Amino acid sequence: IAKNPGENEFHQAVKEVVETLVPCLERHPEYLSHRILERITEPDRIIQFRVTWQDDKGEIHVNKAYRVEFNNAIGPYKGGLRLHPSVNLGILKFLGFEQVLKNSLTTVPMGGAKGGSDFDPKGKSDWEVMRFCQAFMKELYRHIGANIDVPAGDIGVGGREIGYLFGEFKKLTHSWEGVLTGKGLAWGGSLIRPEATGYGATYFAEEMLNTRGDSLKGKTCAVSGSGNVAQYTVQKVNHFGGKVITLSDSNGTIVDKNGIDAEKLAYVLDLKNNRRGRIQEYADKFKCEYFEGMRPWFVKCDVAFPSATQNEVNKEEAQMLVDHGCFVVSEGANMPSTPDAVEVFLRNKILYGPGKAANAGGVATSGLEMAQNASFSSWGTEEVDMRLHTIMKRIHKTCVDTANEYGDPGNYVLGANIGGFIKVANSMIDQGIV
Ligand code: NDP
Repeated sequence: IAKNPGENEFHQAVKEVVETLVPCLERHPEYLSHRILERITEPDRIIQFRVTWQDDKGEIHVNKAYRVEFNNAIGPYKGGLRLHPSVNLGILKFLGFEQVLKNSLTTVPMGGAKGGSDFDPKGKSDWEVMRFCQAFMKELYRHIGANIDVPAGDIGVGGREIGYLFGEFKKLTHSWEGVLTGKGLAWGGSLIRPEATGYGATYFAEEMLNTRGDSLKGKTCAVSGSGNVAQYTVQKVNHFGGKVITLSDSNGTIVDKNGIDAEKLAYVLDLKNNRRGRIQEYADKFKCEYFEGMRPWFVKCDVAFPSATQNEVNKEEAQMLVDHGCFVVSEGANMPSTPDAVEVFLRNKILYGPGKAANAGGVATSGLEMAQNASFSSWGTEEVDMRLHTIMKRIHKTCVDTANEYGDPGNYVLGANIGGFIKVANSMIDQGIV
């Protein structure tokens, strides 16, 4: 903490992981003698830079930007870019650290990284977003490459932003390479990439339910957020025969007891991705309840999919979920539950899938996009979805097997942390002191 002052989210993420690694470190003293913990919690490098851009009126703005290249023991640095006013180094270090373990779990060879800026895309025109992305790439391009570091989307970075970033990278480097994932289908993107995180979190929930002879069919689900992850979670839950009754954004939550069916979801996609409106408009359109300033966790549901941002479920909300009968939590977002919320889930022995396992489908499919780019090929929808589904089942199995091996059956937190850590730790030892 003294070495990294003020990086609260980073401390939170490291503490949570290190606590669950204790039995693994006892079994593998070589990790301690090789100082793996100290090495794995210090990023390989952090690039920080200024982004200067002009708005539509010609006024000049300055933003802070970063790329945290955390660890490339098992593959090129890989992780998203976040554009949100809350972005700071502590948040990006937490996300980069989590990404190292998550990417290891996917079984695709990718290291971990994260980047972004405190630029706020809300209320900006397409031109302004384009100028910002171009200015951002003017520095970032020196540090990335298909075999070096491959950024992707995250909060505030979707297909539009990846397009502008990719266009500028090409212009600056005079090269076409798979340097970003989440690209458009016509220019090197992969089918199913936009859907992958939401689908993956849903597959993970289904796998967890299967361990109790149950499934999503007929289950009432609460989803938070209304962005990329939330949207495709709703689609997949519907596919499995469940019913989603909530969505939210940073202003409030809608509760639609009738369920968000395909037609209503199409409205949400248009509202959020094209018109960039607020979720309250859904309530006006479909005549359902809207709770200003609230998160969804007060509703009665069987399954919760936190899919907005970090620390969006606190202890009281976790308790409320459990008290109302929720017995499955599959995290689409990164670290959405506070440490004492996680404690509530574990104490009550509910099926709790932590983000680094449950939302790994997005980056796994980014890995599949990289594989397609590297081989100048593109795979069909069914093939990518089948691979995604297989990867999610494998991640689930790794969590279950590892938790069993370490004597804590059903603890997906321990399973994911140790499962992801061992591969990276062994690779670091194999590659010497670098
Ligand atoms: P989007 O930008 O598409 O959507 C984010 C959603 O969360 C929006 O509804 C947004 O509301 C809401 N939100 C964001 N910040 C806050 C906040 N501080 N308080 C309340 N609501 C907030 O992002 P994604 O769907 O891509 O990402 C959501 C989460 O999933 C993040 O934690 C991300 O790291 C994680 N994730 C994403 C992956 C991906 O493939 N996209 C992969 C793995 C994890 P508003 O519009 O009002 O800002």
